[in-house]
Amino acid sequence: MSNERHHEVIIIGGGLAGLSCAVQLAKSGVHAAVLEATDRVGGRVRSDVINGFTLDVGFQVLLTAYPSCQELLDYPALRLRYFDPGALIRQAGKFTELADPWRNPGKAWSTATNPVGSFKDKLRIWRLRSKTCRGSLAELYERPHKTTEQYLRDFGFSERMLEEFFRPFIGGVFLDESLSVSSRMLEFVFRMFAMGGIAVPADGMAAIPRQLAERLPRGSVNLQSSVVQIEGNRVVLANGAGLTAKHIVIATESDAAARLLELPQMQTSWNETTTLYYSSPQCDEKFKSLILRGDENGPIQTATIISNVAEEYAPPQSSLISVSLSPNDETSSDRIELLTKQQLNKWFGDQVRDWELLQTYQIPYGLPAMGIDRVIRSPVVKERENTYVCGDHCETPSIEGAMDSGIRAAASILERRTSNS
Ligand SMILES: Cc1cc2nc3c(=O)[nH]c(=O)nc-3n(C[C@H](O)[C@H](O)[C@H](O)COP(=O)(O)OP(=O)(O)OC[C@H]3O[C@@H](n4cnc5c(N)ncnc54)[C@H](O)[C@@H]3O)c2cc1C
Repeated sequence: MSNERHHEVIIIGGGLAGLSCAVQLAKSGVHAAVLEATDRVGGRVRSDVINGFTLDVGFQVLLTAYPSCQELLDYPALRLRYFDPGALIRQAGKFTELADPWRNPGKAWSTATNPVGSFKDKLRIWRLRSKTCRGSLAELYERPHKTTEQYLRDFGFSERMLEEFFRPFIGGVFLDESLSVSSRMLEFVFRMFAMGGIAVPADGMAAIPRQLAERLPRGSVNLQSSVVQIEGNRVVLANGAGLTAKHIVIATESDAAARLLELPQMQTSWNETTTLYYSSPQCDEKFKSLILRGDENGPIQTATIISNVAEEYAPPQSSLISVSLSPNDETSSDRIELLTKQQLNKWFGDQVRDWELLQTYQIPYGLPAMGIDRVIRSPVVKERENTYVCGDHCETPSIEGAMDSGIRAAASILERRTSNS
């Protein structure tokens, strides 16, 4: 026992929450050892490279207005590639553009008069946008809230707008089309979309955690170090080794945190998603927006020609298409693929025959489900003396939620050190 390594801080989990906590501590000269169970950092933000294509493990984007990303990330070094603002919506067999009139005033009129919802719905969208941009984010998190569905109905949105825009849009963001998430989440997301760009790093989303890890002192991150137990100020790894620390941060997913702390109530249920990637010889369409399924019934929830946004995602003379599916009852993956290809064929025509399915990612543990009763920005949970919990389950289930919770856990440790000295 006396030979065990002692650290000032141990962080369990090398996802965005754990890495953000470590970076924030390092800025104040506090060294933390990050223990990550798998063979890479990033947790749920991962990218694979297959045949020269960069595939994010589940379609995922960075909203550049996220305050914690602005604080901790070096955007120029990430070489961000931007989506066009707004969305394309499938309607009556065609793509209809719902542009953002603030960023693209030239499209204000065509957007106002297009058949996505009524003219009044467009005015309501603009009113919602203004409302979400008012005040501080902290104040937004405290607003009275209800389910997103009730909120949108009370706002006066038509049934069509709910079905053709909000359900696939919110479904894509929170992996939950039921619109049962808190209206604060809707307001948070709308605000982030309104206040900044939608982007992916040229090298894939995994460049985000990589950048954070590279900012840590050499040797801080310990991969393949799964923690199986916490005993006071000591953690035990799966290989039986023990380490001690003054402060322990649990930055794992909610379920692992519940296990380590023996607090079953910390477990969450999960929203799942499936993303398919297709490669194609250069795609004819030049869209750089997110496409929502609109009034169609097929398996697709959202899609994007991601190589139009970031050409680095595909080798020269080829395109990469990312397709996310709505939750469905189909159990046969062959059938899902067939239906998806048929729907893509309706969208993009005969060229789809040459598209090749590169990879299917089924992600059962996508986002912690956040019901109406969840406090969005809970105080840093300190379950035991000098043990802190962070992660997206403590805030909004998003990059911002994970990183901000890590920053706040670091702040609590720094505060505690000051008060003890
Ligand atoms: C498909 C998908 C799409 C998404 N899209 C978006 C999006 O477009 N925009 C957005 O803002 N957010 C999006 N998100 C959400 C965002 O990616 C997550 O909220 C965020 O990455 C969670 O980070 P985290 O650090 O809290 O948790 P995680 O990323 O889950 O990290 C936890 C880490 O802890 C490690 N760990 C677990 N148990 C142990 C143990 N016992 N010992 C050591 N290590 C352990 C895990 O291996 C993991 O690396 C998406 C998520 C998914 C899955």
